[in-house]
Amino acid sequence: MAAEPANPQTDRNPLMTIPASPSASHQAARNRRALVLFSGGQDSATCLAWALHHFDHVETVGFAYGQRHAVELECRTTLRQSISAQNPAWAEKLGEDHTIDLASLGALSDTALTRDAEISMGENGLPNTFVPGRNLIFLTFAAALAFRRSIRHIITGVCETDYSGYPDCRDDTIKALQVALNLGMEQRFVLHTPLMWINKAQTWRLCHDLGGADLTETIRHESHSCYKGDRTHEHAWGFGCGDCPACALRAEGWRQYQEGA
Ligand SMILES: [Zn+2]
Repeated sequence: MAAEPANPQTDRNPLMTIPASPSASHQAARNRRALVLFSGGQDSATCLAWALHHFDHVETVGFAYGQRHAVELECRTTLRQSISAQNPAWAEKLGEDHTIDLASLGALSDTALTRDAEISMGENGLPNTFVPGRNLIFLTFAAALAFRRSIRHIITGVCETDYSGYPDCRDDTIKALQVALNLGMEQRFVLHTPLMWINKAQTWRLCHDLGGADLTETIRHESHSCYKGDRTHEHAWGFGCGDCPACALRAEGWRQYQEGA
C-alpha cells in the first residue's frame, strides 16, 4: 500500500502554521515605530535623522517648560520639515509632532534656564542651567505618550561624553529608567541613546554619514543650542550668542569636526 501523501496541513513546521494573530502583527508594527525627544537642538536633530534611517514610522515630541531658549521650540517645525525633506523615504516615515506643556517643571526649578539669572557653575560642580531630573521627567512623559501611540522605541540625544555633568544624561541612569518604565507600564520599551558615547565632533560626523553635506548644513543652520535663545548672530557653527556653555560646546565640536579631529 502506497504511503499516505504528506498532509500539508500537519507536516509543515508547526511554527509556520500558526497564523499571525492581530496582536502579533500589531506587535510587529509597533516594533518599527519610534518616538524622538526632539528639542530642535543639534543633538536631537541628529537623533531624528538617525531614527528616520532606522525605523519605519517616526514621531517627535517636544516639551515646553518655560525655558529661556523657547526659540528652540520655534525652530522645531522648520527643522523637522527640512530634515524629512532630505530624503523621500524619510518624508514618508515622518509622523506626528507632539508638544507637551510642562510649565510646572519650570515653576519647580529655580535655575538659570527658567529665570533671568546669570549662568554660572554651582558649588556642586554643576552649571546652574541644570533642571533637576529633567531628562527623567521628559522620558517618563515620552513613554506615556509612546504607550498611547503604540510605539516601542524611544530615542533621546543624551550623552555622557562631553556634556555638562547632568547626572540624568548618564548611561546608567537611562538603563535604570528603561527598567523602571517597563516595570511600571508593563511594556518592552527600548530607550535608544545613539549619541551616548560620542563627542560633539563625532555627532557632526554621524550627521554627515546619515545625510551628507545637505543634512549637515540643514542642522548647522536651523538647529538651536544657545541657552540665551540668540538667533541673531550667525557663526561658522550656527546661530547663538557665542558666550554661553551651550554655544561654547557647539563651537568647539564644530571646530574639531572641521579639523577632522
Ligand atoms: Zn549661547
